[in-house]
Amino acid sequence: MALGVAILGSTGSIGRSALAVLERHRDRFRVVALAAHRNAELLAEQAARHGAGLAVLAEAQVARPGGYSGEWGCGRDALLAAARHPDADIVLNAVVGAAGLEATLAALEAGKRLALANKESLVAGGPLVLEALRRGGGELVPIDSEHSAILQCLGSVRGADVRRLILTASGGPFRGWTVAALDRATPAAALRHPTWSMGPKITVDSATLANKALEVIEAHFLFAVAYDAIEVVVHPQSIIHSMVEFADGSVMAQMGFPTMELPILYALTYPERVPDDGIPAWNPVAARELTFEAVDVVGFPMLGLGVQAGRAGGTAPAIFNAANEIAVAGFLAGNLPFRAIPTVVEAALAEQPVVPVDSLDTVMEADRRARAAARGRLDRPC
Ligand code: NDP
Ligand code: MG
Repeated sequence: MALGVAILGSTGSIGRSALAVLERHRDRFRVVALAAHRNAELLAEQAARHGAGLAVLAEAQVARPGGYSGEWGCGRDALLAAARHPDADIVLNAVVGAAGLEATLAALEAGKRLALANKESLVAGGPLVLEALRRGGGELVPIDSEHSAILQCLGSVRGADVRRLILTASGGPFRGWTVAALDRATPAAALRHPTWSMGPKITVDSATLANKALEVIEAHFLFAVAYDAIEVVVHPQSIIHSMVEFADGSVMAQMGFPTMELPILYALTYPERVPDDGIPAWNPVAARELTFEAVDVVGFPMLGLGVQAGRAGGTAPAIFNAANEIAVAGFLAGNLPFRAIPTVVEAALAEQPVVPVDSLDTVMEADRRARAAARGRLDRPC
């Protein structure tokens, strides 16, 4: 019997890739629910094409187009109902931002396998996510390519045998730029990622390296590894997706041409592997050279800021994430220079109290206050 899959954020970059993967594996999976924010047209088209019984718009005020005869749901509660859908064995969370946290918790509490692209939920509410995983008895499998790589390198090895996780970063579109050039970096330039095609928020996060900070925190929670044992190296070709160094000095790396369809497929079939002729075939000659360099910490302070927030713990990562979401939106809207993004985030982290993460309310309140602080800064970034 095919496994039921619900996709939250189906209209986005990861959501669309996930549907492309599922279409090639109809013998194993069936789509039971799809959810988006407000892109009703595309959602209806997807739901009709994939035979999903439920289509959810998280934004309640959107008109529903025709062409889809299944059930519609609207608003936050409907999104959470999709995350707990009784016919969904797997919930793929590809919502962007901390808006995905409640759905992550709902899916895990319902005992689902959560295929997680929405790294912000783990960053903002890491302890809550792990607790929901424990209570629900489900599974948490990453889709982020670095974390999928680490999962694949780890195999059955855990704990004491691991010396370091080494996350690779492409360096983004501004790798090698001087600080003077970064001062003039535009949204259009930030959105031209050299190796990955992704949604706008994560593409800007890749340009600032905030994405890598989110990923360090994500790795800390997913693999229970201390921050001292997680490193980042720039690897511009995005062929090696990450590495694990073991206690004896041996290093495992996972590689392949950049495509999110492989980590999406692996999160669906884990720990099994299934053939898929849609994944680009490996060819080391075409991959040519693989190079590595240190992160430019002066030009790209978001990595250090985010890791510092991760080390501080409590609500600090939620504050980092929320302020970053506002700063990125401000930059994309043309209201904030590229180099003021870390200024806004640093100020929010300095101003906002950090408290232990004891409940969803605590995280939501830290998130709300950090957004308000960051919005206040957009008018006076320096
Ligand atoms: P996109 O911006 O392309 O898509 C975001 C999706 O989330 C859309 O379907 C959007 O709906 C939906 N959405 C936005 N806000 C809400 C909300 N409040 N409630 C419910 N749904 C919402 O993002 P990406 O696909 O690029 O990224 C999704 C997540 O995956 C992010 O967390 C990102 O960090 C992570 N990720 C992405 C990678 C990539 O290659 N793109 C790689 C690794 C991780 P609508 O279309 O209606 O606005
Ligand atoms: Mg990644």
